[in-house]
Amino acid sequence: VPDSVCIFCKIVAGEIPADIVAESDSAIAFRDISPQAPVHVLVIPREHHATLADMLAAGADITGVFNLATSVASAEGVADSGYRLVVNTNADANQTVFHLHVHVIGGRVMAWPPG
Ligand code: 5GP
Ligand code: ZN
Repeated sequence: VPDSVCIFCKIVAGEIPADIVAESDSAIAFRDISPQAPVHVLVIPREHHATLADMLAAGADITGVFNLATSVASAEGVADSGYRLVVNTNADANQTVFHLHVHVIGGRVMAWPPG
């Protein structure tokens, strides 16, 4: 069920624009509006789940999200050179959009820990 106030549900529905780079039956991938690296793509399930824990608790299959994330890494040219998949959860991780998303971050040497 789409969440009526969720910005990523609106992107899934085509109600607000996004630079979509890949899609599958269960997930879509689009460029982060505020990229933190040369490659910064967000991969989200079409279904609304606030967090990873919520998605798994609902019995939903996360595989499609990670399949699309690795596919995007290849398409963006960072599969071999290296990239990071990040899932921020709740306040201490600075989660700001409560529709589960996997950040695909690559394209240069990145500091660790981030942020
Ligand atoms: P979080 O901190 O929740 O893991 O990351 C949310 C990400 O979504 C941020 O990196 C932010 O730049 C991105 N974002 C927020 N609103 C939009 C939007 O409307 N469009 C796109 N493409 N990215 C967004
Ligand atoms: Zn949503």
